[in-house]
Amino acid sequence: MKKRCTAIVLAAGGGRRMNSTVAKQFMPLGGRPLLWYSLQAVEQSAIIDDCILVTGKDDLAYVGREIVEKYGFDKVDLMVPGGRERWESVANAVEALASPDRRIPNRDGYVFIHDGARPFLNEEILVRTYETVQEYQACVAAMPSKDTMKLVDEKGFAVSTPNREHLWSIQTPQVFGTELIGRAYGALREKAGREGFEAVTVTDDASVVELFTDCRVKLTKGSYENIKITTPEDMKVAEAFLADRLQEAPPF
Ligand code: C5P
Repeated sequence: MKKRCTAIVLAAGGGRRMNSTVAKQFMPLGGRPLLWYSLQAVEQSAIIDDCILVTGKDDLAYVGREIVEKYGFDKVDLMVPGGRERWESVANAVEALASPDRRIPNRDGYVFIHDGARPFLNEEILVRTYETVQEYQACVAAMPSKDTMKLVDEKGFAVSTPNREHLWSIQTPQVFGTELIGRAYGALREKAGREGFEAVTVTDDASVVELFTDCRVKLTKGSYENIKITTPEDMKVAEAFLADRLQEAPPF
């Protein structure tokens, strides 16, 4: 029997690097808020059963009304307030997976953690990550690095140049067994409690699993279009990708 698959879609945080008064997850792309695109991929997916949506505490009512209700995203089962950093937002959602407030708690299925700021999530990526996580319990979407990457010191001098064949750019979704990701984020919370919030520097979910469990994380192909909107020029790239999509499948 297919195990329960829950998406955690992240849409908290201010997006300081966008230089905008509107948080980037709500900026318009093709006439719809950026967040609409990943929620739509989740809603239409044959893999995902339900969704926990994370937004800023002050945005919960607005997002519930203007995005979830307005566009009929029925898979959104729970909305959770975000944290100060991405990891804290994920931790809040992971802790809510088995909450009694959920229609059907997810105790031993899979969890797909996805940045709401990546609008080009698609079913092929969800299928590939689902197939991989069933075998390995931990899997992330990623693509081979096109650029040469260098390790640099704090003064901006090159220290070393890792072989590009071994360098991949990490994307989301990052997908894990429910028990595994619960255990990993539980350990991270404990570390933050013990050593202070600033002591935690992780920027993705795979790192949490790598740090606190024995489980090895398997990479699987995402896509070069699965970009994260971070700075204003990313929005222009997203508009170009969207125009391509509309040409391939016009909405009329
Ligand atoms: O900050 P960055 O662009 O790397 O954020 C990646 C994703 O994490 C975005 O979808 C953003 O909404 C989310 N995030 C969050 N809570 C934070 C910071 C970022 O949910 N405190």
